[in-house]
Amino acid sequence: MNFTELGLAEPILRAVREEGYENPTPIQAQAIPAVLKGGDLMAGAQTGTGKTAGFTLPLLHRLAADKPARDARGRVAIRALILTPTRELAAQVEESVRTYGKYLPLTSMVMFGGVGMQPQIDRLRKGVDILVATPGRLLDHHQQGTLDLSHVQVFVLDEADRMLDMGFIHDIKKVLAIVPAKKQSLLFSATFSDDIKALADRLLNQPSLIEVARRNATAETIAQRVIMTGRERKKELLAQLIREGDWRSTAPTAWPSTSRRKVFQPWRSTATRARVRAPRRSASSKPARCRCWWPPTLPRGGSTSTNCRTS
Ligand code: AMP
Repeated sequence: MNFTELGLAEPILRAVREEGYENPTPIQAQAIPAVLKGGDLMAGAQTGTGKTAGFTLPLLHRLAADKPARDARGRVAIRALILTPTRELAAQVEESVRTYGKYLPLTSMVMFGGVGMQPQIDRLRKGVDILVATPGRLLDHHQQGTLDLSHVQVFVLDEADRMLDMGFIHDIKKVLAIVPAKKQSLLFSATFSDDIKALADRLLNQPSLIEVARRNATAETIAQRVIMTGRERKKELLAQLIREGDWRSTAPTAWPSTSRRKVFQPWRSTATRARVRAPRRSASSKPARCRCWWPPTLPRGGSTSTNCRTS
């Protein structure tokens, strides 16, 4: 399958070609026809699968095929709303919208908190077809009366599982209450917990269901262990682990970038990560996952073994 067979408009195909994409990824091959048909969609896909183009390309196609909506003052009104959990993702998604839509007469805007509201208000006043937003700031604008969502035709909830993890469920419910009931809704999530299913029941109407294999999923036979230690003891710890485990091959990695290191800041420590091949388990038993400290906080009999408790 190639992009032309998916029935996307020529200006979109041109932008996709310029990005160097030759063939649709599995999520795109399934999601694009489903969204073009106009129905709701529940898609299981995580970052790295090409999911953003999976909803953005057909969304652009559908909006470009219709005339712009106009609000009471004659301004271009928002027809597509994409909600994301973080400002970084919002910015990325809006950049994709601009990249894939660069040959279309559609406008987009990104909206998130932590920055001034006035520039966002000024931008909204100029008229926007596609709004990519985080829930908190979106609701701030709604409360202030600076945002009109009454013309939304397509609503996308991206990384819905992450949104719930971050405690956005109440905000999502509030957003659902202010967008029109009649719309096309697309829900993307890396996992399908009961909470996600409950949200999907509320949001989606007879959705198409798509799930693609998780990229970089951890193998069931690999046990993962995180050992927290001070930066100065990392080499010593690694040497001990190799000795104790009689590891024949190891692949130590360093995380050089500041932004990545931030992931570990809540623990105020650096972490040495080690993946250890565990004995084969039965298909039903889960591999061990645990977090522990080194040296142990309560050394037993002077032993310096890591005090790893399997959870
Ligand atoms: P996403 O999962 O949406 O975050 O996309 C992950 C990366 O895949 C992005 O850098 C995209 O530019 C790239 N990508 C998306 N679709 C394709 C495709 N069909 N072929 C090659 N790369 C793609």
